[in-house]
Amino acid sequence: MKIVQLSEKVASTIAAGEVVERPVSVVKELIENSIDAKASQILIRIEGGGKDLVEVQDNGIGIPADELGLAVARYTTSKLRSVEDLSNIGTLGFRGEALASIGAVSKLEIISQARDADSGRKLKVAGGRTGEIQTVGSAPGTVVRVHDLFYNTPARRKYLKTDNTEKRWISRLISRNALAYPHIRFELESAGKRSFISPGTGDGFEALSAVFGPKVATRMIALVDAPNAPFKVSGFVSAPDLQRSNRNELNLFVNRRWIRDAQLSAAVMQAYHGLLMVGRFPIVALNLSLPPDSVDVNVHPAKAEVRFADSNHVFTVLQRFVRATLLGQAPVPTLNGAQTISPGEGMARPFAPLFPMEQARGLQPASQPAFPGQSVPLLRAVGQVGASFLVAEGPDGLYLIDQHAAHERVLYEALLSQIEDGQVVRQDLLEATKVELSTGEADILRENLTVLAEIGFDIEEFGGDAFIIQSVPALVVDHAPEAVLKAAVEEIEEDESPLEKEKEKRLAARVCKRAAIKAGQILSLEEQRRLIRDLEACKVPRHCPHGRPTMIHLSVASLERQFGRR
Ligand code: ADP
Ligand code: MG
Repeated sequence: MKIVQLSEKVASTIAAGEVVERPVSVVKELIENSIDAKASQILIRIEGGGKDLVEVQDNGIGIPADELGLAVARYTTSKLRSVEDLSNIGTLGFRGEALASIGAVSKLEIISQARDADSGRKLKVAGGRTGEIQTVGSAPGTVVRVHDLFYNTPARRKYLKTDNTEKRWISRLISRNALAYPHIRFELESAGKRSFISPGTGDGFEALSAVFGPKVATRMIALVDAPNAPFKVSGFVSAPDLQRSNRNELNLFVNRRWIRDAQLSAAVMQAYHGLLMVGRFPIVALNLSLPPDSVDVNVHPAKAEVRFADSNHVFTVLQRFVRATLLGQAPVPTLNGAQTISPGEGMARPFAPLFPMEQARGLQPASQPAFPGQSVPLLRAVGQVGASFLVAEGPDGLYLIDQHAAHERVLYEALLSQIEDGQVVRQDLLEATKVELSTGEADILRENLTVLAEIGFDIEEFGGDAFIIQSVPALVVDHAPEAVLKAAVEEIEEDESPLEKEKEKRLAARVCKRAAIKAGQILSLEEQRRLIRDLEACKVPRHCPHGRPTMIHLSVASLERQFGRR
């Protein structure tokens, strides 16, 4: 084919893809326009996960009547004039392409009334074609309705996920905005039902509470201004005992713009060093207030990444500040219960070293297995310590076994092998149990009935957001079916993995964690023996499915060293 110049229409449809990838990108652009317009209330309505309709209504400054036509044209903006302005951006938008891009791939309608005007104007754009401006009676502020996203680019529409998944992304985006802008009231309505609301009082704790629920909010630590800090870091970090299994809730904002930044995430994780278990993540909502000229926001199509003039400096300041906050306030768990580490103490240690002498001498303390998959030798149960750990003797010394982690592993391998054979042993519940879920949880459950059935949960819809549990995997039958199911739903919610096989495994792991013997449960010697036998038979006996060790080994040699016999 010869090289030809693309028509304006084709070129703008392609360019739109940079900005508008899916319904959540539309919501993002529209919310950002409302925030830039100084709105204090933003109402978002969606239908069909945003594929059929995204409507964003605000009470911001509105668009003057004679500028509405320009607002929907490409590269038209009220937020920037020159290239120099690019290095000093104080608004979320600045490229002047969002409304035009959205209008190129949907049927868009915008109604706006400037604050001092006495009537509004309405304009439609469909597939990039702009209609006539009409005068309408409206309220001050702006409403944008986006119907039938990608109706004219079916290839794109095909790549959208289910309504529930698209909706979940939208909810997450709105939650983040609610965290970054506690003085704005955000409300999300999906298919006519309210699914989120933030109060917009300006109180950060109330915003946290709207997003994570009051229980989590009360366990978050507010960052307190450091008087001589080179820049301001504000927001909240979770106490170390409040953990998530993924990094989804590491919410970082720069000048209130949500960003993804591996280096800043790493700074936060370093601040938690030694306070969290391996593979666990905190919940944070942090805003860095930086002079606009020290951060370039124009490096990413969706502006989800930024570039710092001095990223090492930002990293260090953030890491130290969060660490100081944590050490100053957070109770740190140790082997013998909670203990507070005072501010200024160097590195926190989550678990007191078992053998401090040995460690001081730089010798190998309680040895971890060289290979995670390594099997364990036959062990003789000796007894139980603290109703949580089993003591066992092996051919090469002493083994301390975490009973909960060990049982988790045993249940997990058993359930997994049943799943792999396609014959999970189910137990019908004597009394079918009714579970009431939140709307969000119900959506998730409805979408995952099949995968749950594969791991042994037969669940029926009861109507509304209620479900009936008919049967559960026999392995977990001793446990409150409702709690186990809720744990599974939570797992799906946190799970980002698109792979169905992975999902099954993660679900199985979560269910087994719920069902496993807890710390604090006294076991008879017979039960101890049985658990140890089952663990020995596992393929990966030395770690629980979440990667934590099930046992600590103290070799005879290390005992001899401890006692000064060597
Ligand atoms: P940008 O936000 O990059 O300027 P957009 O295409 O998103 O580009 O919007 C174009 C212009 O339309 C904005 O610069 C602003 O002047 C106006 N505008 C868009 N949405 C709103 C709104 N909700 N309230 C007031 N003005 C708006
Ligand atoms: Mg914009």
